[in-house]
Amino acid sequence: MIASKFHITHLYPNELALYGDIGNIIAIERILEGIGWEYVINKVNIGDELPQYNDIIFIGGGQDNEQAKVAIDLQRHKQKLQQLVNSDTSLVAVCGGYQLLGQSLELTGGILPTISIFPIITTAIENNPKTRCIGNIILESKLEGIDAKLVGFENHSGQTSFVGEYFRPLGKVVFGHGNSHNSGFEGCIYKNAIGTYLHNFLPKNPEITAWLINKAVEKKKNLNQISLAKYQMVKEYEVDTTIASAIRRNLIERFVK
Ligand code: GLN
Repeated sequence: MIASKFHITHLYPNELALYGDIGNIIAIERILEGIGWEYVINKVNIGDELPQYNDIIFIGGGQDNEQAKVAIDLQRHKQKLQQLVNSDTSLVAVCGGYQLLGQSLELTGGILPTISIFPIITTAIENNPKTRCIGNIILESKLEGIDAKLVGFENHSGQTSFVGEYFRPLGKVVFGHGNSHNSGFEGCIYKNAIGTYLHNFLPKNPEITAWLINKAVEKKKNLNQISLAKYQMVKEYEVDTTIASAIRRNLIERFVK
């Protein structure tokens, strides 16, 4: 049965693909292979429709002009994506994708339409290498059940802040910038959706990949889309963090005093 497979939706892989963002999809694939769960990857490019099943949705980062190319097209999917996230679908949005899923976005080229999933707003600072937020970044995770340090690489001129009273960052910054210059906090969690500036996010932080797959399997169970045996298999699967932990240790030793 097709519904019982795991469905990965990759939004705009042709335009939004910076710093190995494709690695996020590969990280999801590796865990699904480890579990032994058949999966399908649906790429949604400009002009394409969203697929019928969406267990995890991913959108990567891009240069300002690439973001401008997809911003208008993304409006076609606004309602459906809002409805999917509000009904607990797992989603990861990295950097440029994170910004496009906020409440408003003004980059160096002007204002771009957004789809109001995360309660954040973003404005670019002058696009000059001295003021961009660039480099390795280390966070103390704020995600429930995950106490590992999260690591990645950031490179953005956009400065992001929370709207109104909402304040649920992905992590507290230990090293690097995060949502804005020295803001102290990084990313945004809304339901089972994570927005972040961390490139190489899922490959370097496999606990997060497992968290997203676990949320997706809960939803599939509630919708009767999987057998109880498959559900148990996913729940019992233990993700291998050996390589990621070594990378983290190395970064922490280098950058955290
Ligand atoms: N163009 C956006 C910025 O500079 C996003 C960059 C990115 O995705 N790395 O803020």
